[in-house]
Amino acid sequence: NRAELVPVIGSTNQHWFDLLSRLEKGDICVAECQTAGRGRRGRPWISPFGGQLIMSMYWRLEQGMAAAMGLSLVVGIAVVEALEAQGFPGVELKWPNDLYLNGRKLAGILVEMSGTAGGPCQLVIGMGLNLLLPQSEQERITQPWAELAELGNIEDRNSLVIAVAHQVQRSLVLFEREGIAAFREQWNRLDYFNGKAVRVLMGEQQIHGIARGIDAQGALLLELESGEIKRFLGGEISLRGN
Ligand code: ATP
Repeated sequence: NRAELVPVIGSTNQHWFDLLSRLEKGDICVAECQTAGRGRRGRPWISPFGGQLIMSMYWRLEQGMAAAMGLSLVVGIAVVEALEAQGFPGVELKWPNDLYLNGRKLAGILVEMSGTAGGPCQLVIGMGLNLLLPQSEQERITQPWAELAELGNIEDRNSLVIAVAHQVQRSLVLFEREGIAAFREQWNRLDYFNGKAVRVLMGEQQIHGIARGIDAQGALLLELESGEIKRFLGGEISLRGN
């Protein structure tokens, strides 16, 4: 596979999108710093020089866009597993694809795709994982955040990147073969909000309930006060603690 390493870039996801037609599954772009890192819906992602593991990976799904929801959950699980294997235990997941440490955001994953309904779909999977953020950048982050250094010294950033990239690739191959079913148990083990009171935000609307993990499609399950279970699949949905 190809790995491109760049010191400074606008956005690794954008860069990989610009090269889409020339990439192969599993190719990665790694940067030291992003000047225009992005989150969902145009929100900024702060990625200062040297403080983060910033990586984008190209993938292609023959099953098309419908499978992309499950894929983004699988990427989160894979990153947590790689961190565990590298000696950083205790990281959890927030549906659909944030990494949490002690209830604060440790990493964001942004899956962007292009394709037509029914056809295969091309994806760029971006991630920004806080390692050790410079003091001067910390106040720019508008929500509680965490960094991996809280769990111990990060001695070798290169092996961390490699471990994450390999695990993501392995998990995506398994996902293509067996779907989200192969990951459901793992998700429910790592799900930070599982069993907790939460709010689901959909535009202006807020729905309160208890988070009950995911179903066989990767949809978020919310138990309402009436006992009814409501499911949410992808799109413009945000999950918040109560
Ligand atoms: P959602 O639940 O809808 O995904 P979100 O607030 O987590 O909401 P994202 O688009 O995933 O939104 O991420 C962007 C947000 O993440 C920013 O608005 C900011 O609050 C936060 N953020 C930006 N940079 C960092 C960082 N380095 N570490 C942690 N959080 C960050």
